[in-house]
Amino acid sequence: ISKIAVLTSGGDAPGMNACIRAVVRTAIHHGLEVYGIRQGYQGMINNDMEQMQARSVSNILNLGGTILKTARCLDFHKDEGMEKAYQNLKAKGIEGIVVIGGDGTFTGALRFSKKYPDIKVIGVPGTIDNDLYGSTYTLGFDTATNTVIEAIDKIRDTADAHDRLFFIEVMGRDSGAIALRAGISCGAEAILLPEKETAIEELIAGIKAGHYNSKSSSIVIVAEGDKNGGVYNVSEAVKKEVSHYDIKVTILGHLQRGGSPSAFDRVLGSRLGFAAVNALTAGQSQKMVGLQANVVVLTDLEEALNQHEFNLEPDLLQMAEVLSI
Ligand code: ATP
Repeated sequence: ISKIAVLTSGGDAPGMNACIRAVVRTAIHHGLEVYGIRQGYQGMINNDMEQMQARSVSNILNLGGTILKTARCLDFHKDEGMEKAYQNLKAKGIEGIVVIGGDGTFTGALRFSKKYPDIKVIGVPGTIDNDLYGSTYTLGFDTATNTVIEAIDKIRDTADAHDRLFFIEVMGRDSGAIALRAGISCGAEAILLPEKETAIEELIAGIKAGHYNSKSSSIVIVAEGDKNGGVYNVSEAVKKEVSHYDIKVTILGHLQRGGSPSAFDRVLGSRLGFAAVNALTAGQSQKMVGLQANVVVLTDLEEALNQHEFNLEPDLLQMAEVLSI
């Protein structure tokens, strides 16, 4: 292999830049030419790619987002889109790609590489949701959780000053990973997650019990994917039953995606980018690199995608309840 490329796709996540930097510099270390593809699969189709040098990735370790931009690209779902992307890569002599993204990105990469096996693909798990099989942590999850914690700490100050009950929506349509860790870190009174049904009556009873235990404020974290119909529905239902608190709703929204990556995400991004290029030079393809028990491991993309059910740690779920009394 002598020429490779790197792209970021799907939702952006802090740490992607550290990974891009590692891919570029590891490739150069191996004597490979390396191209940066802009806007994910869209750039592959539009031939929007450029050779990168060691200095192309200077001073990006500390930046959130992705210098290569990312996109959701519908054309890549179609055969014509894939063919165009393939022809563009072939014309440049690119034989391997590192794709940084989530489930969708890996699905596209695997389909592409099965159709065109002469292009090798290695996936790097980059999503704040931490919901990929094959890696204990995904890129961006740690930073996003820290961002959420910082925001909730500020909300706690005002909640406490006014005897308020805050319902805070955090990201996670299918995954309660951010909600659970943020809830534990901020001492949330309750955490509503897509993975675990919480009856509203149970929530109300818990809030009442907290008040009787003379809590001056309460924080309830609601992941986007909670099955009770969204944060406003939950707060309205509680409002009918709980009168001793002034009830407020805050949706943290896209601020959760941004910001300078944490040390953890910078190291993880560097480590997985380094490993991805090493895997390509070793002839690997259709694999993802991930971290398990603090060791970098390769998992078949096929397996990672088929088993994408990611289970939250049962001890954390149990502990969160015990500690919130
Ligand atoms: P996140 O977890 O942040 O949402 P993701 O990688 O799952 O990241 P998606 O938008 O689902 O994000 O997928 C990214 C891109 O991957 C899509 O825009 C599309 O270009 C490509 N892709 C997804 N599924 C397929 C598929 N079945 N076939 C071809 N390409 C796909």
